[in-house]
Amino acid sequence: MFRVILMLCAMALQTAAHAQGDIGRLLNHPVPGGVAVIELGKGLAAPEAVYLNNRVLVVRDSDRQWVAIVGIALKTPLGKQALQVQTAQGKRVVAFSVGPRTYREQHITLKNKNQVNPDPAQLKRFEREYLAQMSAYGRYRDVPPSNVLLDEPVHGRLSSPFGLRRFFNGEERSPHSGLDFAVPKGTPVKAPADGIVTIVDDYFFNGKTVFVDHGQGFITMYCHLSASKVKPGQSVKRGEVIAYVGSTGRATGPHLHWNVSLNGARVDPAIFIGAFRP
Ligand code: ZN
Repeated sequence: MFRVILMLCAMALQTAAHAQGDIGRLLNHPVPGGVAVIELGKGLAAPEAVYLNNRVLVVRDSDRQWVAIVGIALKTPLGKQALQVQTAQGKRVVAFSVGPRTYREQHITLKNKNQVNPDPAQLKRFEREYLAQMSAYGRYRDVPPSNVLLDEPVHGRLSSPFGLRRFFNGEERSPHSGLDFAVPKGTPVKAPADGIVTIVDDYFFNGKTVFVDHGQGFITMYCHLSASKVKPGQSVKRGEVIAYVGSTGRATGPHLHWNVSLNGARVDPAIFIGAFRP
């Protein structure tokens, strides 16, 4: 009997508790391309959490629990994952489980063949731009975000969801890394939380693009813009207009493509605006 109790205690220490606060209730969708909210205790100081060598966002939930908000990349296998946690009491490993989610297919026809199979010069340009974007997603600024439940950057119909498996002129390409809003050209795009602008550029696929760093590895990206209102290094407030919707880059019409990234993993933006559909 004593043995069984010991075993149960050990399991309780190792397995993530189900988060009970508002953030846990609203954001915890531990699937590939989703988010795991993991309780870390109620101590005075914020614990530090690391997942796959990246620092993880840690904030206090409404029930005073510290929670780690872990981004789970789309390519993550189902099953057990490990979060490294450091508190004043020492280091421990908390396990959490990634469950299944099905993503649909989308077939798109593009007239501009170079946007399906870029020529070598375009490919070189794309590689350079890709590295700049990966570096922006990898940033960790040790400042807590103003809010983790985000405002919609534009109000409009959600068109292509996150994670769609995409085929351009019949050829499979990377899955859809963000959420699309079908809104007219010129619609103002508002910052969904305070942040610092880290990139303003014009990319081959993404067109005119803005990156905002909200703190602790919580990064958002806005693409296919007609114009931007901000400069790299600029601070922006929640609700401030940062850009205008357009159809620059690989776009079949005006829309906003919005990415949300946590600890270097692109996750479903719908989670953060209360629009997640399992
Ligand atoms: Zn998109």
